[in-house]
Amino acid sequence: MGFDWIVVGAGFTGATFAERMATAGKRVLIVDRRAHIGGNAYDETNKHGILVHRYGPHIFHTNSEAVWRYLGKFTDWRAYEHQVLGLLEGKLVPIPFNLDSLAALFPRKAAARIERALINQFGFGKRVPILKLRISEQPEIRDFADYVYRNVFEGYTLKQWQLRPEDLSASVTARVPVSISRDRRYFQDTYQAMPLLGYTTMFRRMLEHRNIEVALNYDWKRSMLKGRHSRVLFTGAIDEFLDYRFGPLPYRSLRFEERTLQKLQHQPVGTINYPNDHKFTRITEQKIITGQQAATTTLITEYPQAHEPGVTTAYYPIPRDRNRLLYNSYATVAEAEFPHVCFAGRLADYQYCNMDQACARALKLASQLGA
Ligand code: FAD
Ligand code: UDP
Repeated sequence: MGFDWIVVGAGFTGATFAERMATAGKRVLIVDRRAHIGGNAYDETNKHGILVHRYGPHIFHTNSEAVWRYLGKFTDWRAYEHQVLGLLEGKLVPIPFNLDSLAALFPRKAAARIERALINQFGFGKRVPILKLRISEQPEIRDFADYVYRNVFEGYTLKQWQLRPEDLSASVTARVPVSISRDRRYFQDTYQAMPLLGYTTMFRRMLEHRNIEVALNYDWKRSMLKGRHSRVLFTGAIDEFLDYRFGPLPYRSLRFEERTLQKLQHQPVGTINYPNDHKFTRITEQKIITGQQAATTTLITEYPQAHEPGVTTAYYPIPRDRNRLLYNSYATVAEAEFPHVCFAGRLADYQYCNMDQACARALKLASQLGA
């Protein structure tokens, strides 16, 4: 049968777009080279019966009511506010670094003085990116910022990106600002919850539509455009689409180590960050974030690694100016040579984006294209 749209990639971007177009009456073929739907948000039960996120722990949070309502058509939610502790100087303290972290690590009088200075300068409840805090005019705040920079950001960022925080777009470390409060939540978004039965079930429901056909283990190539009349949404890597003609866009990859313990719960919170002293960056306990009840528990440890196209998985676009320029070259050529192909998603836009942003991007694109 003929299709109005071929959607390459069944992650948040592709699945949202496919569902919207199908609901608008279009016939859609959605393909993925992987053996499953869900993209990097895919989850499945491991051999111990624990639901794990195969491509790293995924916690849903959004300020967009539209995204929240849209996804809510395909899943019930379990309220969950993520908490993270960081191991600093042998102590577990809240991350984002906040006033409780300060009190735990500094002598009492010094902590009180720094707390007053921070509140006077920025106001209680404010969240300040570390790179901004470091250029404060007040020496006391600067010294404090240098401490947080060295102990929370420098080692972690070098491990994760092989770059120092100031050599990346400031938006990267601004994701985890210093918090002048005692709020222990990792995210501040209005809506924070996990899909009750997991992401894969939610995706299955999105794609269970009479106008949608799903083809897995299907490696889509640009040559497949020839002689076809369907329109294409491509959510894969834009440099791969164009045969790396300007050289590969840089990515960071990860290796996940999974271990299951015969106990109810291992960690006090969902994730513990290890900014210093280890090769890994963080350990997440799946059951804490999914809310699953079971007698055993599975932990996922994240080891950052270099990315080699065709060998490792491209997880993180590396946000810095020179990479944006390289991406712009690809985007310009793609638009000029393939005007009938749409590009969207974490890989196609070369954008460090969260799940809700991928969903919002696809909702907007589908609506612009008539859905
Ligand atoms: P993807 O999910 O990458 O989907 C793209 C799909 O396209 C893939 O399945 C791929 O196999 C397929 N594909 C590519 N090329 C082809 C081809 N040629 N033929 C066929 N198929 C192809 N976001 C959050 O909001 N909260 C989190 O806690 C969070 N944690 C994360 C943790 C990690 C380790 C990572 C890497 C990301 C995390 N994210 C998180 C971000 C989230 O994964 C992305 O926002 C989301 O997956 C983007 O969806 P997408 O559809 O654009 O891309
Ligand atoms: N970061 C850090 N120390 C931390 C937490 C985060 O240096 O304890 C920096 C690091 O550069 C990281 C970035 O902030 O890559 C964004 O962190 P986030 O937890 O949002 O990363 P993600 O979950 O997207 O991997």
